[in-house]
Amino acid sequence: MSTAGRFEEDEMTDDVAVPRGTNATQLGNFNETVILHAIRRADGVSRVELGKATGLSPQTVTNICRRLLDEGLLVEGEKTTGGLGKRRTQLHIDASARTALGAHIDPALTTVTTLDLVGKPIDVERFPTPDDPEKAVAKIARVLKRLIAESGTDGVGVLGVGVGAPGPVDVARGVICDPPHLPNWRDVPVRDELAAQTGLPTVLEKDTIAAAVAETWAGTFTDGCSAIVLYLGTGIGAGLVIDGEVVRGTTHSAGEAGHLVVDPDGPPCACGLRGCINVAASPRALVEIATHKGVLPAPGPDDNLDSRLGMLYDLADAGEPAAREIVRRGAAGVARAALTIGNLVDVSRVVLGGPYWPRMSAYILDAAPTALEAATAASPLHPVALGGTKVGENLGAIGAASLVLDHAYTPRPTRLVLGRPERTGRSA
Ligand SMILES: [Zn+2]
Repeated sequence: MSTAGRFEEDEMTDDVAVPRGTNATQLGNFNETVILHAIRRADGVSRVELGKATGLSPQTVTNICRRLLDEGLLVEGEKTTGGLGKRRTQLHIDASARTALGAHIDPALTTVTTLDLVGKPIDVERFPTPDDPEKAVAKIARVLKRLIAESGTDGVGVLGVGVGAPGPVDVARGVICDPPHLPNWRDVPVRDELAAQTGLPTVLEKDTIAAAVAETWAGTFTDGCSAIVLYLGTGIGAGLVIDGEVVRGTTHSAGEAGHLVVDPDGPPCACGLRGCINVAASPRALVEIATHKGVLPAPGPDDNLDSRLGMLYDLADAGEPAAREIVRRGAAGVARAALTIGNLVDVSRVVLGGPYWPRMSAYILDAAPTALEAATAASPLHPVALGGTKVGENLGAIGAASLVLDHAYTPRPTRLVLGRPERTGRSA
């Protein structure tokens, strides 16, 4: 037996990933998502235009549209006049045909939302995150069930539940592992618990990844572009979008930015460096610095991060010099981090959002030109646009629900790939 033959045989029997094939069903499903995507982006498009936009044959477009109309996902709208005077029926997504539920577990606040099929929020509810994870999950399940009941749909058309939580999360097991600002949340099987309590398929992702999915689903980025979404929560994390795809990473933890040094003369960090985002520029860090310097008084019993960050920014807005210096330095750090990460993955857009973005935005946008100048000097290939979220408030919860829509309807080549067969006769 030749060496080449033996090598090939080894490859077939070892755990080496061999590309999988496709079949007509997979192809049909993929083309269906391509058509839905094109209609969603255009909001009003004829079958002829769909053929041109997607490259699919007129017959394929007609068949898929008929199927989607039958399923209630599309509605026919007005007729427009085409080039040769032929009337063309415009197709739209029926936004009410499906809903997706989302829950964002932030250390301070949990937000639950319902989205329609085009990703527009129908309902939002917020409550302080209970310290006890069991109580928190039960409360989320109750709110989800109430939102479904209030929607009057009797649960028909509900696609599932997405959960966004601070990392690290174990996506394969659906478990929140041990997030730094949620001290009691160690190995909490949130996905399976919520699925059991709601009876709905449930998916879990890190919140910054969910935020990037939300912006991508909402059409913030042109198809195929690379971008980062910087999420300003209790800490700061990045969601990476490369060539139009949200990057998950080996353990679904891509975008951990907490120990990126943004201020070399800043406070010392537990990791041994100085001036990491975690200790120099995150909302929590700014409040800690201000408290340490006596710019903010010692916290009262009812104070929380939200109220104290508000106090700090009110002082800065009023022109208090020490407060201004703290928030400006923090803002410069955030802008620098955004563009450093942006350069690393060669992006054209940097989008900022999250619960503390509205409060911090003016200072960060002020600091952006200087940071942009430095970033352009380091990587002068093309300009980078930096701006606020298109999704708006509740980016984390909308991101969580967008995970469900994305899973069901985003056209991606991996949809073409057949699943791997069950392995037999082998032990792990
Ligand atoms: Zn650090």
